[in-house]
Amino acid sequence: MRDDFTQRTIEAIAKRAGFLCSDPACKSPTVGAAEGHDGIVNVGVAAHITAAAPGGPRYDPSLTREERRHQSNGIWLCQTHGKLVDSDSEHFTVGMLRAWKEAAEKQSFRAIVAPHTARDRRGGASIARHCGLGADRNARIAAARRPSVGHLTPARWGTKRSRSLQAHAGMASPLHSTLA
Ligand SMILES: [Zn+2]
Repeated sequence: MRDDFTQRTIEAIAKRAGFLCSDPACKSPTVGAAEGHDGIVNVGVAAHITAAAPGGPRYDPSLTREERRHQSNGIWLCQTHGKLVDSDSEHFTVGMLRAWKEAAEKQSFRAIVAPHTARDRRGGASIARHCGLGADRNARIAAARRPSVGHLTPARWGTKRSRSLQAHAGMASPLHSTLA
C-alpha cells in the first residue's frame, strides 16, 4: 500500500515552495495560466522525500503512515527534477532534499515579506537594481517622505544642516523618478 499525499497536502507542498521547483539550481516556475482556455498548467510534482511504499527511493520504515503522508515529507519539484531525484537516490539523499525544501520555503517567505529585496538567480537582483529599489528601499522611502526636504529655500542650501538634507534628497530622487 502506497502512502500517497492527499490533494490538499500536494497543494500545501506546492504553495510552501511558492510554486517553484525546489532544486536550488533550477527554481523553475511550475504553475501558470493555460493559453487559449481558462485552465491551469501545472508542470510540478510533490515528490516524496522518503518513499510512499517499501522499495521506493529513500524509503524509511520507521515512519508512521501519517508521517509519510505529511507535507513535511514532500518536496515540490519540476517534473524533470522530480524524476531525477527518484532515479538516483544514492546522490539525492534525504538530507539533501530536506535542505532544498527548507531553503525553498525560506525563500518563498522572503519573497512575500520583502519582494524587492528577495534575490533569486532568475534576475530578481537586477530587477531591484533597475527599479532603484535595493536593500535600503525602506530607508529611501523614509527619506522621500521627510517633509523638510521639500521646504528648503535655495538660500539655505550649503549650510551644515541643509547639506545633510541634500544628501537625503539625493538619496530620494531616484525613488521619485521611479514612482512618478
Ligand atoms: Zn527543476
